[in-house]
Amino acid sequence: MKRIKVQEVLQTPASGQEVLVKGWVRTKRGNKFVTFIAVNDGSTIHNIQVVADMTLFTDEALKEVTTGASVSVLGTLVQSQGKGQTVEIQARSIEVLGTADPETYPLQKKGHSLEFLREIAHLRPRTNTFGAVLRVRHAMAFAVHQYFNNKGFFYIHTPIITASDAEGAGEMFRVTTLDPVNPPRTEAGEVDFSQDFFGKSTNLTVSGQLEGEVTAMALSEIYTFGPTFRAENSNTSRHLAEFWMIEPEMAFYELEDNMELAEDFLKYLVRYALENCQDDLQFLNDMYDKELLSRLNFVVENDFQHLTYTEAIEILKTAKQKFEYKVDWGTDLQSEHERYLVEKHFKKPVILTNYPKDIKSFYMKLNDDGKTVRAMDVLFPGIGEIIGGSQREESYEKLVTRMQEMGVPEKEMWWFLDTRRFGTVPHSGFGLGFERLLLFVTGMGNIRDVIPFPRFPKSAEF
Ligand code: ATP
Ligand code: MG
Ligand code: MG
Ligand code: MG
Repeated sequence: MKRIKVQEVLQTPASGQEVLVKGWVRTKRGNKFVTFIAVNDGSTIHNIQVVADMTLFTDEALKEVTTGASVSVLGTLVQSQGKGQTVEIQARSIEVLGTADPETYPLQKKGHSLEFLREIAHLRPRTNTFGAVLRVRHAMAFAVHQYFNNKGFFYIHTPIITASDAEGAGEMFRVTTLDPVNPPRTEAGEVDFSQDFFGKSTNLTVSGQLEGEVTAMALSEIYTFGPTFRAENSNTSRHLAEFWMIEPEMAFYELEDNMELAEDFLKYLVRYALENCQDDLQFLNDMYDKELLSRLNFVVENDFQHLTYTEAIEILKTAKQKFEYKVDWGTDLQSEHERYLVEKHFKKPVILTNYPKDIKSFYMKLNDDGKTVRAMDVLFPGIGEIIGGSQREESYEKLVTRMQEMGVPEKEMWWFLDTRRFGTVPHSGFGLGFERLLLFVTGMGNIRDVIPFPRFPKSAEF
């Protein structure tokens, strides 16, 4: 007989038909007449109630049916008398597939702290919270592909191992086949990367943008969606050393088109979650954040605020709130400033444009004022920056000048510059941090709780 998933069985009209369900025991309770076993298989936040009539089962037979044990249940599907559930299974046979010793199973009792669960990342998917988060994560990844596919964008795989540092921030994980203790050295005493596998120094990608840009210069509208790596030693609740990024790049898009796409895309994703992850979002809303659903609905229904960096600085300088970091024209905004604009001042998401060129990367298009670039950051409540993007510099001469100013090695970037030499066009793109999106959609407070196996300084247990 074929197994039926809990999610499916809960939606099946009960008419005494035989069903086979497999999963993990969440709870067991009862009396000498009847035992109730809640079984979950991860397909939904809800459990299926299995009812064992104790005239058919002995205590001995159910001894190993304990929280965490895996079971295979055969029985008939009947209407449930219980509150909040429609159907239940009258068990005919309950087979324990794998026991879980009650003395040592870490998820024995209900209600563990998120900090504790982070230490058992291998078991936390069995909790309601992480089941919900992981299902929402899946739904959002699927929606990303659906959105772009509907719009005719092509999904491009950009390299994980690369020689370029798109952000110029120097936060790279080195990739080398050389002996780290005794690497071969040149006569000048430097590590001789010419003897390395790639014949040069390489690193894990910090962004697929540059490769994305050159591909957009052929296929017009593309996106990448893959892991990115940043060796930033910041232990914040919004930074990971390994995170996933969605990066569309579009030829023939000006900054305004880019802003429009970003807003439409974010609203699509949030709407998708509201429509397709109802049970999980309701659970997260009730459990952690009573404002979650109303915040998600608000974002979908309201226009984002457009604002220039210069206007933002004016607002922040006259703000009543005391900030930890002072702002002045030319300084980069911290999360506290971004959140003030979104949460206190405008009370809606903000798209901030035209940042000073000195605090942004070399590839952004210079404005006519010679001081600002056509950058755009999208700022969200509870998060701050969720998207970083820009119109890219399409002029060969201007790009070379910017690279020289910022010390970006021109020679190594010959391939990137080539696209400005041959048939250059205005183009734009952005990067959406997938886990930042998930922080917003799930209402979780720490980025380590929206990725299955978080990587952060000193985290790598397995
Ligand atoms: P922040 O200012 O928050 O450090 P950033 O400006 O350095 O972000 P970008 O280089 O603009 O980040 O990357 C694009 C997007 O990737 C960001 O808007 C954010 O959503 C996400 N992102 C950046 N760094 C991280 C990180 N360490 N962990 C998770 N997401 C990140
Ligand atoms: Mg950063
Ligand atoms: Mg930033
Ligand atoms: Mg940024």
